[in-house]
Amino acid sequence: MKYLDEYRDQRIARALAGEIAQITTRPWVLMEICGGQTHTIMRYGIDELLPRGIELVHGPGCPVCVTPLETVDKAIELALRPDVILVSYGDMLRVPGSRSDLFRAKAQGADVRIAYSPSEAVKIARSHPDRKVVFLAIGFETTAPANAMAAWQAQRGGLANLFLLVSHVLVPPAIRALMAGSTNRVQGFIAPGHVCTVVGCKDYDDLVHDFRVPIVVGGFEPVDILQAVLMLVRQLEAGEAKLENQYVRSVSYEGNLPAQKIMAEVFEVADQKWRGIGMIPQSGLRLREEYAAYDASRVFGLNEVTVDEPAECISALVLQGLKKPTDCSAFGRRCTPENPLGAPMVSTEGACAAYYHYRRHAAAD
Ligand code: SF4
Repeated sequence: MKYLDEYRDQRIARALAGEIAQITTRPWVLMEICGGQTHTIMRYGIDELLPRGIELVHGPGCPVCVTPLETVDKAIELALRPDVILVSYGDMLRVPGSRSDLFRAKAQGADVRIAYSPSEAVKIARSHPDRKVVFLAIGFETTAPANAMAAWQAQRGGLANLFLLVSHVLVPPAIRALMAGSTNRVQGFIAPGHVCTVVGCKDYDDLVHDFRVPIVVGGFEPVDILQAVLMLVRQLEAGEAKLENQYVRSVSYEGNLPAQKIMAEVFEVADQKWRGIGMIPQSGLRLREEYAAYDASRVFGLNEVTVDEPAECISALVLQGLKKPTDCSAFGRRCTPENPLGAPMVSTEGACAAYYHYRRHAAAD
C-alpha cells in the first residue's frame, strides 16, 4: 500500500496546491475528462485546495452516463425475451431508459446477470447453449479490447449463441466536439489515464495542434490530479499548448499495441450518439462486417428509435462542463441514486453521484 499512500499524501498534495497558487496569475477553466477523476476531486476536496481562479469542470468521461437511452431501451427489450440472458456491468442496471430500467426488468422475471468482464458472458454462453446470451458492451477505449476479445473468442470457438449490444465511445472526438462548440469555456484538459493506457498519448497530438489547447494525461489519485493541474497551469501561464504525460507509471506514447490490434480487428470507427449530447461524428466503435453474426442489433432486428431525455435533467450540460450537478433543480430532491432521473446520478463515475455523495450537504446550505 506504500505506493498508493504516496499518491494520497496530504503534505505532497498541499505543496502542489501551493505551487499552483504561486504561479496562477489569472483565471483558468480546466476539464477532467474522466468520471473517476471527478470522484477523486470531490472525495478529496481537490477543487477546494486550488486557488480561486482555477475552475475544474467535469467532462463526459463516464461510460454509463453517455450510453444512449435507446441502447438501454434495446437492452431491456432483449432482456424481456424468454430465450435471452442479458449480461451487463452492474452500473447499467439502474440507468433509466425511457420507461424502465434493467433492474425492474429483472424484477419482472427477465434473466439479467451482472458481470465484471465480458469473459464471464463467454462462459455463460458456453454453459447455456440453448439460450441466447447478449452482453451489453459499453464503454470507452478502456473496455473495448476485452469486449473485442469476447467477439473474437466467440468466432474462433464457434460460439453461435453470444451476441454483443455495442455502445462504444471514443474520447478524442468528444474533446474535438467540445472545443469546436460555440459555448466551450475549457482552456486545458486532463485526459483519462486508463484510456491512454490502451491507446497511448498519440491520439491527442492533433487536438493540441488543431485547437492550441494544452492536454495532460492524468492519473486518478489526488496527487496525480494536482500534478496534472500544475502542468496545465504552467503551460497556460507560459502561453504554451503541449501534450504532456503525468501518468507515466502507466501510459506510454504508443499505448498497448496488442490491445489496439484486437480492437482494430473486431471494431471499426463509426458515428456515435452520446446520451444527452447527441451524435458526434466518428466517435464510436461498431462491430466490423466480419463480426456481424455477433451484433445483437442486427441479429435481433432491433428498431432504431429516438427517445428524449426527461426535460428536467440537465445532464447534457453537466457532461459538457457547462453546468454543475448542483445547478440542476432536481439534484438531491427528485433525483437521487435510489431514484435517478438521469444516468450521471447512477454511475459510480457519474458527476451527479459524486456531488451527491461528497457535496450535497454543502449544496443544501
Ligand atoms: S441531478 Fe439528476 S436530473 Fe439533474 S442533471 Fe444530474 S442526473 Fe440529471
